Amino acid sequence: MTQTIIRAGLLADGRGGVPRKDQAVLVSAGRIVAVDAVGAITGQAAPGAKTIDLGDSCLSPGLIDGHTHLSLAGDGRPYSEMFSETDEMMVLTGAMNMHRHLQAGITTIREHGARNKVGFTLKQGLSRGLIPGPRMQVSGRPITCTGGHFHMCNEVADGEQEIRRSVRRLVHEGADYIKIMASGGGTEGTIPGRASYSEAELHAAVHEAQHFHRLTAAHCRASESMVNAVKAGIDLMEHAEFLDPDGELRFDPKLAEMMAECGIWISPTLQAWCRWPQITQLRRRRDDGSAAGADLKMLESLEARAQGRLDVMRQLLDYCMKERIVPGTDSGVNDLAFGHLDYDLELLVEVGFTPGEALEAATRISAEAIGLADELGTIEVGKVADLVAFDGDPTRDVSAVSRVVAVFQAGERVK
Ligand SMILES: [Zn+2]
Repeated sequence: MTQTIIRAGLLADGRGGVPRKDQAVLVSAGRIVAVDAVGAITGQAAPGAKTIDLGDSCLSPGLIDGHTHLSLAGDGRPYSEMFSETDEMMVLTGAMNMHRHLQAGITTIREHGARNKVGFTLKQGLSRGLIPGPRMQVSGRPITCTGGHFHMCNEVADGEQEIRRSVRRLVHEGADYIKIMASGGGTEGTIPGRASYSEAELHAAVHEAQHFHRLTAAHCRASESMVNAVKAGIDLMEHAEFLDPDGELRFDPKLAEMMAECGIWISPTLQAWCRWPQITQLRRRRDDGSAAGADLKMLESLEARAQGRLDVMRQLLDYCMKERIVPGTDSGVNDLAFGHLDYDLELLVEVGFTPGEALEAATRISAEAIGLADELGTIEVGKVADLVAFDGDPTRDVSAVSRVVAVFQAGERVK
């Protein structure tokens, strides 16, 4: 078995603290067998080990995106148009998106819901080696109520009985975890500020999922749905926007206290809500002088709107430990193109994380949240050698996360 020595100027192992200088990782059979100073590692390697020298760059655990919709193109079209595509086209779109995410240093994803068998097919394509992509947990189809958010994916269930049946069906088809839509969302005809399932219905999903040792994630934009999710014992809450039925965001300290107490994982999907890709693009044009007056006006209003959302997040952080927050892109939806977990890390820094804490959130903490902490999330002996190297120190400057110079999957260089 050929071993590989991967050496870099800096190493941030995902466990916090200051990155160590001139380190090397020894990989054998896809796993990390030693992490040490460059000088000390050569003595531990078997004869014939090959060395990859990443120069000054900083090596970190591969990034984890807990929220993707691989089958959607993220090209700004409305759901109605995106879902008019065939399943076959959605699989092709998914293959392209997996490649993009991997090249951006994202080595693990959760596929948060596609139509019919598309999500399962993509995972099979990956495991058979037909397409490249990040390691993947699939939900298959999100469970939703009649006419509910993402009902187009065809896993509609009303009432506890039907929800239990849906969980059983999805697990049988290969779901690694269960995604359920606890409030309305961007799907036409749904109300984001209202719960779409009762506490009892969500609890049926949790109970049935636990029976199969599956974790649960719930889409919760409405405060009502957040309360239901906490009471029902959902493992991970998506969005957590504190949205009221009138469409306004209103932070609720009591609810925040409940969330902190029960220790639910929270994935605030900040770039999605803040329309960060659009803001980033407009800022670029402002800075290079190509923005028209209307663009600048648009930018101003988008920035003000984003601050409202970020303020809610800052208030939440006064209650919930940073250690329970995991970034997720919601890529595929609206104009959220794949390849940009960096935006969510930027926004975590904006609400008070240090760059180092943001990186930990996307590595060690995300691995814990999705039940893969034994395998992934840190650079430690015994773990899978999924690694990414950045140009710059991402624990001091979050913009380094946008400058990916190398990506490794189980020790194999894929970028
Ligand atoms: Zn989503």
